[in-house]
Amino acid sequence: MNEIAKCEYCNSDAKGIYYKFFYGRLLRETFKGLGVTTGIERKREYVIIGEGEAFICDQCVNKQRRKIILIFLPFLFTGGLAGFLWIKEHMGLAILFGLIAFGCLIFFRQEVNRYEFFGAGNQLAVKSKRQQYMAKGYNALLTPKERASLRRQCD
Ligand SMILES: [Zn+2]
Repeated sequence: MNEIAKCEYCNSDAKGIYYKFFYGRLLRETFKGLGVTTGIERKREYVIIGEGEAFICDQCVNKQRRKIILIFLPFLFTGGLAGFLWIKEHMGLAILFGLIAFGCLIFFRQEVNRYEFFGAGNQLAVKSKRQQYMAKGYNALLTPKERASLRRQCD
């Protein structure tokens, strides 16, 4: 349920909800290779110590989501254009714009990974709490999605 409280990201009293995050310590970080689509592959090992939550207002979450949509825009635009040209049977142009869309996707992959659309509130919760937890000696704050992807790595 939405309620009114002090947003921990923008410090204003506004409507929003509490978002969960996990905190712990980064044990080690290893790098390997340079892939065309992945960039430098990075493996981080954490120990998760507990979970916390932060109140984030709806406005901050919406702003963050708009930012993510902007990052996706070149991909959506060129991809959509490729689809449209394909339907109109301009195959050469469709393939050209399809390739550009693919290029955009690779280029923005890192950025896309850095932002979470549905977890935007959780990401802001992590951002707003990072300093406070760093001061307590926890150098890793993770969103539920990031934590879930860690579990997959371990399996
Ligand atoms: Zn806010």
